[in-house]
Amino acid sequence: MADSLAAAPDLTALRKEAEKAANELAAAQKVLDKRTSDLKAANDQLNKKLKDLSAAQATLTQMRRPIADLVELVYQQPVADGIAPFLSGDGDASMALMRSQSDASVLAQARQLQVDEISKAYADKQRLAAEAQEMRATNLLAAAQVEAEVATLTKRSDKVVQSLTKALVKMGIKIDKVGRAAFACNPLRIDATTDYPNGLIPKSILCPIQQRGHLLRADAAIAFVSLNEAYKRQFGQQMCVTDAYRTLAEQQSVYYRRPGFAAVPGRSNHGLGMAVDLCGGVQSAGTAQFRWMEANSKRYGWFHPDWAYSNPYEPWHWEYDPKIDSLP
Ligand SMILES: [Zn+2]
Repeated sequence: MADSLAAAPDLTALRKEAEKAANELAAAQKVLDKRTSDLKAANDQLNKKLKDLSAAQATLTQMRRPIADLVELVYQQPVADGIAPFLSGDGDASMALMRSQSDASVLAQARQLQVDEISKAYADKQRLAAEAQEMRATNLLAAAQVEAEVATLTKRSDKVVQSLTKALVKMGIKIDKVGRAAFACNPLRIDATTDYPNGLIPKSILCPIQQRGHLLRADAAIAFVSLNEAYKRQFGQQMCVTDAYRTLAEQQSVYYRRPGFAAVPGRSNHGLGMAVDLCGGVQSAGTAQFRWMEANSKRYGWFHPDWAYSNPYEPWHWEYDPKIDSLP
């Protein structure tokens, strides 16, 4: 037995690595969220710009119509015919020509003015198009960077979880056909358990331990497996577990069977997947197993709560505290 244990992978180191990956992922996620909202703001800006652009284009189209009409009108001026009456001394005709020439000059001025406005609108359109193009390119680049970061972090955390899963399997954790246990034993998903009330955590996001049929929160489970390995080295057998995660219904059942001995339903650490009830000697204070647990469990994040020494007296009840576990 000693030989197989010596070859056992360092679960604690793997778990800490996984937790580090989780923290990095969370930090990166914050950056990514900020980037996503920046991206959205930039897109809104882009949309506004495109709206301005289409407004400028509409102005341009609107201006083209009167200009076309004007041009038509100027060409329709009967210039050659108009000179004849002027030469022949037809006063009325001369007056008409003068007026039409004056009209033509006003029209020409108006035309020039509109040509200037069209040039300005055209320049605006060109500028807006260039700005929109640049903004679109910037947004696409930012989006690609976000995607690349997500891919890198996902790959890294997947790799850590894979190593951890392999190590757990090596230590006797059973994985079902769909690999649910491997998925559940992902410490990166601990936060998901806090989305559920006490005793109502879906079993699919809890993690099995070596003792068949028992589940714990991923970090508590991984720490418990390490504790169990150390216990095995000391006593030559696995720890004896009577209870780990307890559903709300199970908490109610225990509470009514043994009033005063179990926590109020919905308030037990068993319902968080962070407590175990032990047997095999640990259930009696003063035994070698109990004393060993008192002396060693904290190294693995597990401890015997103060209340359980007397009120009520529950030597079998042990809890996991991630804060203790993260101590160097
Ligand atoms: Zn208990």
